[in-house]
Amino acid sequence: MSTRTGQCMCGAVRFSASDVPDTFGACHCEMCRRWTGSALLGITVPVASVEWQGEAHIRTLQSSDWAERAWCQRCGTGLYYHVTLDGPMSANYEIPVGLLDDLSGLEMDSEIYIDHKPHAYAYAGERLRMTRKQILEKIGIEGAP
Ligand SMILES: [Zn+2]
Ligand SMILES: [Zn+2]
Repeated sequence: MSTRTGQCMCGAVRFSASDVPDTFGACHCEMCRRWTGSALLGITVPVASVEWQGEAHIRTLQSSDWAERAWCQRCGTGLYYHVTLDGPMSANYEIPVGLLDDLSGLEMDSEIYIDHKPHAYAYAGERLRMTRKQILEKIGIEGAP
């Protein structure tokens, strides 16, 4: 765990987060694919540990029945994925790892929705890879796409 800072492309939104883990994961679901243009490389950060600057520039969209996605209204950079259902998962943001000012010491340790990944690209290396069915059973959300 460490404290890391980051920002959107234009710098209107900045953040500082404590309790940032040293590992992050990729999500290959269709929504993340379209949101990011490829896969979401998200690092799990406690909502309570994040201090935002420029919060007035943050816009959110309820992108599914269980989650919202946020972006900078000035430059369009995606800022976080956040589960809005009551429960332990709502305590965290998934922040795109590329927003961090410094990615040193971080390692990608998992990929989910691996069975939805296009054949057109793949991340090299060995790590935990879970199918849609496996991840939905693990997090207990029924009917997610
Ligand atoms: Zn921005
Ligand atoms: Zn996803």
